[in-house]
Amino acid sequence: MRILVSNDDGIYSPGIASLAEIAAEFGEVRVVAPDVERSSAGHSITASRPLYWKRTPLKVEAYRVDGTPADCVALGASQWKNVDIVLSGINLGSNLGNSIWHSGTVAAAKQAVLLGLRGVALSVATPEGEPDFEELKPSVSEVLKILLFDPEWKLVNVNFPHGPPKGVRFTRQSVRLYDGKVVTAKDPMGRPHFWFTVAPITETEEGTDRWAVNRGYTSITPLRLDLTDTEQLRRAQQRYAPGAAASQEATAGTTSEQVSK
Ligand code: MN
Repeated sequence: MRILVSNDDGIYSPGIASLAEIAAEFGEVRVVAPDVERSSAGHSITASRPLYWKRTPLKVEAYRVDGTPADCVALGASQWKNVDIVLSGINLGSNLGNSIWHSGTVAAAKQAVLLGLRGVALSVATPEGEPDFEELKPSVSEVLKILLFDPEWKLVNVNFPHGPPKGVRFTRQSVRLYDGKVVTAKDPMGRPHFWFTVAPITETEEGTDRWAVNRGYTSITPLRLDLTDTEQLRRAQQRYAPGAAASQEATAGTTSEQVSK
């Protein structure tokens, strides 16, 4: 099994080193990651200039790239044939709920899926600085055993709690509450400036990623790229299908395709 490892924390992150080391027990590993930290880079790609990579001395074959996490996965997969899966992490800091939208860690996993590969994002809560990756090792191995060899797992977001996990919970993404906040302050010259920061969310919904991690469990959330609101699509197709208005009552309960025939 060929495993491409990346993340947005930058090539020298201890989280990447730890994940590469654990992944090497399951297959052939190569690291391709941004040369500097690109956290919250989301799914941006570099299309206005060429990308460069440099060989980097890690325990496994590794390259640092002057690009985004998504760039690194696209470049890594183009230059290494037959990659089976992309692992992105282990990110220093959770990627829960709405932060999935901003996350460079999750974007690297999404980029894998766009390329027809499988992608797993892995993050760990860091309320007190750098986590103990040595202590986390058995939990990471446990998760990789669940995800690596089962092709049903296409795109997955994994979050480890702070400290030894109590176990694994399969969860859904929490989207009801948003933790992004713009804080106004003044710079040393007295000019107002605005800082996008994270406001803590204490309320959690049962069964969500945040709920599980806050209770000390490892959260595994299967994701998908299709953002279509299928309920609204169905309603719109019914309402605006040719002839739908005239025969709406008569055809209630049928699909728009049936209506338009
Ligand atoms: Mn990061």
